[in-house]
Amino acid sequence: MSSDRREPLLLTPGPLTTALETRQAMLRDWGSRDRDFIAMNGLVRERLTAIAGGQGTHVCVPLQGSGTMIVEATLATLVPPSGKVLVLINGAYGQRIAKILELIGRLPVVLETPEDVPTDAAAVEARLAADPAIGHVVAVLCETTSGILNPVSAIAAVVAKLGRRLIVDAMSAFGAIPLDARQVPFDAIIASSGKCLEGVPGMGFAIIRTAALQSSAGNARSLSFDLHDHWVYMEKTAQWRHTPPTHVIAALDRALETFVAEGGIAGRGARYAKNCSVLVSGMADLGFEALLPAALQAPIIVTFHPPADPHYSFETFYEALRQRGYLIYPGKVTTADTFRIGCIGRLDERDMANVVAAVRAVMAELGIASGVPGKPLVAARA
Ligand SMILES: *Cc1c(COP(=O)(O)O)cnc(C)c1O
Repeated sequence: MSSDRREPLLLTPGPLTTALETRQAMLRDWGSRDRDFIAMNGLVRERLTAIAGGQGTHVCVPLQGSGTMIVEATLATLVPPSGKVLVLINGAYGQRIAKILELIGRLPVVLETPEDVPTDAAAVEARLAADPAIGHVVAVLCETTSGILNPVSAIAAVVAKLGRRLIVDAMSAFGAIPLDARQVPFDAIIASSGKCLEGVPGMGFAIIRTAALQSSAGNARSLSFDLHDHWVYMEKTAQWRHTPPTHVIAALDRALETFVAEGGIAGRGARYAKNCSVLVSGMADLGFEALLPAALQAPIIVTFHPPADPHYSFETFYEALRQRGYLIYPGKVTTADTFRIGCIGRLDERDMANVVAAVRAVMAELGIASGVPGKPLVAARA
């Protein structure tokens, strides 16, 4: 898919490998208050809302910056100052959400499972039933720490049944794993330009239930992170309140055209699923073991156990793959010294087969006899 390029392929959770056309879309300057930009910005917002199935019920509120910034802004805007929030945690991004809530003076309580165990919707239901003070629940769709897929549809059903509000961090999966507002009740789904939509990094956005946003005026004790205020301004003027990331939006506009042409979520999700299975089975042939069983693995990023072979170290392995044009990612699970290989971005199954071939060559170069891990770290935790 990207064999014509000389830069390395990014096998990471973002920023990602992007299409040439997407990068070319940035070769023009845009006046942020000019009608050409205004039209493009409006179309991008409409398309993003449609991907979430939120036409007529939800609105897209974009924000400059990293993904964490839009997460923080969404929490600050939708959770009232006295709000108590149940955070569903099985990795670093869930931990980060709890930390944000604490820093902005909300009251987080957590329901935590190990990094290789998805959140249990029945446990969410029990917690909510026992604590009527909890107004909001925050879930992570694909926890990028391990690559695990959380059962957000089932969680959404119990949250709605008990009359609470759901906010979903879908950053790593939006555009590849469906979560449709017409079927799954949520107040907000949060994502960014630079992950599965295959734009460049620099803009986050939340698709927010209009009624929830309307009633959130004054919640955010912040100028820059007040999504209600950004939204009111954008509705009134069709412009961004403060300098927009014009080139990022132009790239996303182009990337969304490619996304639609690929068949939307179904097409993109299928390509990533193929990438993931080629990667996992190719690595298994070399002895490598994924942290997660296939049933829990989202087709986004795969965590692998390190080989037991004493010639392996992440640093030398990374460097040797880098020399061959592939950038992998260090592990993030806390129980083991793992590494991660991403399946997302402008990559296809041929690229993934090439990654596996590069791993094979690197093993020969470094004298790593096999990818078989040492101790079964997950089972050991019991
Ligand atoms: C990437 C990501 C974020 C945002 O990370 P930034 O580095 O701030 O862009 C948030 N949540 C999840 C699950 C992610 O994968």
